[in-house]
Amino acid sequence: MQSLGDVSVGTKLSLVLGTAVCLIVAVGLFGLIQLHRVNGVAEDIRGQWLPRLELLGELKRSVDRYRLLATRQLQTTNFHQLAETSAGLDEAQRQIDAISQAYGAMIGAPEESRLFVAFQELWLDYLLSHRLLVSRLEVGEVAPAVAAFNSTSLLAFEVATTRLDELVAYAKEESARAIAYAQEIYQRAMILTIAVILAGAGCAIITVLWARRHVIRPILQVTRAMRRLAAGDWSAAVESCSRRDEIGTLVEAVAGYRDSLQRNQRLAEAAEVERARLQAAIANMPVGLSMFDADRRLIVCNHRFAEMFHLPAALTAPGTDYDLIMQGGIGPAAGQAPPAGNGLDPPAGAPRPGEPRLSLLELHDGRVLSVIRQPTADGGWVATHEDVTERRRQEARIAHLASHDPLTDLPNRLSLRRTIEQALARLPEAEEVAVLCLDLDRFKLVNDTLGHAVGDGLLAAVAARLRAALPPEASIARLGGDEFAIVQIGPDQAIATRGLAHAVIQSFGTPFEVEGHRIAVTTSVGVALAPRHGSDPDRLLRAADLALYRAKSDGRGVYRCFRAEMEARQRARRSIEADLRRALGAGELELRFQPLVNLQTDQISSFEALLRWRHPDQGMIGPTEFVPIAEETGLIVEMGEWVLLEACRAAAAWPEPVNVAVNLSAAQFHHRRLVKAVINALSRAGLLASRLELEITESAVLKESGATLAELHQLRSLGVRIAMDDFGTGYSSLSYLHRFPFDKIKIDGSFIREISDSNGSLAIVRAVAGLAASLGIATTAEGVETPAQLDQVRAEGCTEAQGYLVSLPLAAGEVGPFMAGPLPLGRPRQGNGRAIA
Ligand code: C2E
Ligand code: MG
Ligand code: MG
Repeated sequence: MQSLGDVSVGTKLSLVLGTAVCLIVAVGLFGLIQLHRVNGVAEDIRGQWLPRLELLGELKRSVDRYRLLATRQLQTTNFHQLAETSAGLDEAQRQIDAISQAYGAMIGAPEESRLFVAFQELWLDYLLSHRLLVSRLEVGEVAPAVAAFNSTSLLAFEVATTRLDELVAYAKEESARAIAYAQEIYQRAMILTIAVILAGAGCAIITVLWARRHVIRPILQVTRAMRRLAAGDWSAAVESCSRRDEIGTLVEAVAGYRDSLQRNQRLAEAAEVERARLQAAIANMPVGLSMFDADRRLIVCNHRFAEMFHLPAALTAPGTDYDLIMQGGIGPAAGQAPPAGNGLDPPAGAPRPGEPRLSLLELHDGRVLSVIRQPTADGGWVATHEDVTERRRQEARIAHLASHDPLTDLPNRLSLRRTIEQALARLPEAEEVAVLCLDLDRFKLVNDTLGHAVGDGLLAAVAARLRAALPPEASIARLGGDEFAIVQIGPDQAIATRGLAHAVIQSFGTPFEVEGHRIAVTTSVGVALAPRHGSDPDRLLRAADLALYRAKSDGRGVYRCFRAEMEARQRARRSIEADLRRALGAGELELRFQPLVNLQTDQISSFEALLRWRHPDQGMIGPTEFVPIAEETGLIVEMGEWVLLEACRAAAAWPEPVNVAVNLSAAQFHHRRLVKAVINALSRAGLLASRLELEITESAVLKESGATLAELHQLRSLGVRIAMDDFGTGYSSLSYLHRFPFDKIKIDGSFIREISDSNGSLAIVRAVAGLAASLGIATTAEGVETPAQLDQVRAEGCTEAQGYLVSLPLAAGEVGPFMAGPLPLGRPRQGNGRAIA
C-alpha cells in the first residue's frame, strides 16, 4: 500500500485544502444553525414575549385607569364629570377587552393561559360589581353602593390585578428565560465557532508548516542547489531521497542534472586537457600544420608552419585569408605547379574526406616540402608540411650509395644489372649488348704485400684509368673486389668488343703510382654478348665471368669471349667441389714426390710431396685445380693433415739425410691446429723434425702475420725447417726475409724458365741467391727443365734445384727405385748419392 510520503504533493495539497474547505463549510453551517437558533429565540422574544409584555403593561395601565376612573366616578357628583368618567370607563373597558383579546390570541403556555383566565374571571367579577355599583348609584344608593363596592369590587380588583401581576411576572420570567436561552445558544455558538476557527487555523498552520517543511523547503533547497550548480559549484548537496512524490522526482531530476553536469564538466575538463595536449602537440610538431575552412580562411596553424613559409605573425591569425598567406610567405619556386598543385592550396574540386593527397613542393629558397593534404567534411582542408630537403638529399645520397661503389664512385653491380636490363629492353634488332668482365691479375698479392690501403688506392686509380679509356657509349661498374664490368651497346659487338677489350688491357700497360708504390698489374677480360650468349643480366654476367675465368687460366693479361664449352668446364669445377668432400675418405688422394737436388753435393737432398686426386671419372687431377677449392671450402685443413702424415710416413722409410718437403696453404694457419698436426704427424710416422721441411708462400706469411709468425716460430723451434715457396711472385718478397728466419727460399719457376731471356729474371735469381747466401739461407731453383737452366742456377749460387730435368713428381713406390737409380742428368753422383752429369 502506498505510504503518505509517496502520495503526490498535489494530492496532499488537495487533501489539505479539501479538509480546510470542509472545515470552513462546517464552521459556516454550524454558525448558520446557531444564528438561526439565536434568531428563532430573538424572534420569539420580539414577536411573542415583548408584545405580550407590552399588552400586559397596557392591560395593567388600562385596568389601573379603569379603577381610577371608577374610584373617581364614585366621588364625582358633577353630572358632566360623571358622564365624562363613564365615557372614560367605557373607553378603558374597550381597551381592556381589545388588549385581552389580542393577548388571549398570543397565549401559548398552559400556565399563562391559566393565569390569564383567572385574571379575566376576576376582572369580570370586578366589572360586574362595578356595574352593579353604578346602577345603584344611578338609583341613588350611593352609600351602600360605595360600601359594597369597597368590600367586594375592590377585593376583586385587587385579586385580578394580582393575577395580572403574576401574569406579567410570568411573561417577564418566560421572556428572561428566552433571552437567557438565546444568550446560551449564542455563547455556545461563539465557543464552537471559535473552536472551529481555531481548529481551522490550526489545520491551516499545520498545512502551511507541513507545506513549508515538506514542499517549500525542499523546493528552496533544490532551487538553491540548482543556482549553485548553475554557478559551477559542484559541492551542492543534491542527494537522491526516498520520497516518491513530485519533490522526490524533482530532487532526483536535479541530482541527475547535477550528475549530468558533473559528467559534462568532467568531459569538458578531459576535453580541455585533450585540447591542451593537442595544442601542445600541434605547437611542438616537427611538421608544419595548417587548417583552412571552406571559405579558405585559416582556422589554425602551428609555429613550424609559419616558420617554414616565413610568415609574419599577422598572417598566422585565425581567419586570415589563404591568398594573403600565400602572398605574404615564401611561395613555391617558379615552374612549380599552379596554386592548386602546391602545398598551401586547398584541394581542387569537391572535398573528398578520407582521401589524403601527397605532393612535393619546391620553394623559392630551394627547400623541398612534403605536403599531405586531407580534405575535411566541411569543405576545408588540413595540411601537414614536412621539410624533406635534407631527407631528399640523404635519399639521393643513399640512392647513389646504393647504386655506386663508394671507393671508386663507379656504379655497382646492382646498377650494372639495371643498365644491362634497360639496354636489353630497348635493344634494336641490329645491335648487341656486350658485357665485359675484368679483374686484376694477382690483385690479392698487392693487398697482401702492400696493404689494403694501397690496394684500395690501386682500385681507385684503375677505375679512373678505365673510365678514361672507355668510349662514350660504354659504361663501367665495379662488381666488387678487383672485379669491374663494362657494358657497351652497338652493332657488330663481336668485333667492337675486341677493340674495347684490347684498349682496356692496353690501359694497364703503364704501371700505377699509388702512395709512392709503382705497381704493375695486368687485367684479364671476359666478354659475353647479348642476345647470343644470354638475354638476361645474370646470365650475361655469368657468361662474361666464365670467359674471364678462361682468360685467367690462359695466362692472364688477355681477353676471352664466352663459349658454350666454358660452361661445361665450370660444371666440372662445380662437380669437383662436390666430389672433393668425399675424396679424402674414399682414399682418392695420393701423393707424388719430386726430388730436390743439392747443387753442391749433387745429391738428392729431399722430396717435395705434391698432392694428386685420382678422380673416378675425371682421372688424375692436379692440385692447382682442386687445392684452391679445398682452401675455399676449408677442406684444406683436414687434407693438409693427411698430406703431412702421409709425407712423414713415406719419408720415414727413406734413408737419411733425404728429407721431405710439404706444402702448406695459408688457410691451414687460420685454424691454429697446425703445430699440433705437425707434431702428431712426426710422432706417428716416427720421423725426426729436422727431416721435415714446410713450404709456405709469401701470402701465407703476410696474412695475419702476427699469429702466423708465432706458429712458424713454434714449428721452427721443433726443428722443422721453413721454406718460402714461389719466391718472387709477390711484390716485396725480400722484406720477408727480415720478418722470419727462413731456412730456404724457393725461387719461382717462372724466373728459371725465363732465366736466359733478357727480361731481368737472371738478375733477380742472382740477387736473391746472393742475398740468401749472405743471410745463410739455402736457395732452391724451381722448375729447372734444361741442363742450361741448371747450369745457370748453379752458376748464380742456388744451392738446390728442382724440376723436370731431375724428375717428374714420382709415385711413392717409385721413390725408392729412383733413389737407387742414376739421376737422369747425365752427371756422375758423388759420395753415396748419384752424381749429376
Ligand atoms: P709448388 O709447391 O711450387 O710445386 C711445384 C710445382 O711445380 C708442382 O706442380 C710441380 O709438378 C711443378 N714442377 C716441378 N718441376 C717443374 C718443371 O720443371 N716445369 C714445370 N712447368 N713445373 C714443374 P704441381 O704438383 O701441379 O703443384 C702445384 C702447386 O700446388 C704447388 O706448387 C703447390 O703450391 C701446390 N700443392 C701441391 N701439393 C700441395 C699440398 O699437398 N698442399 C698444398 N697446400 N699445396 C700443394
Ligand atoms: Mg712447393
Ligand atoms: Mg713452388
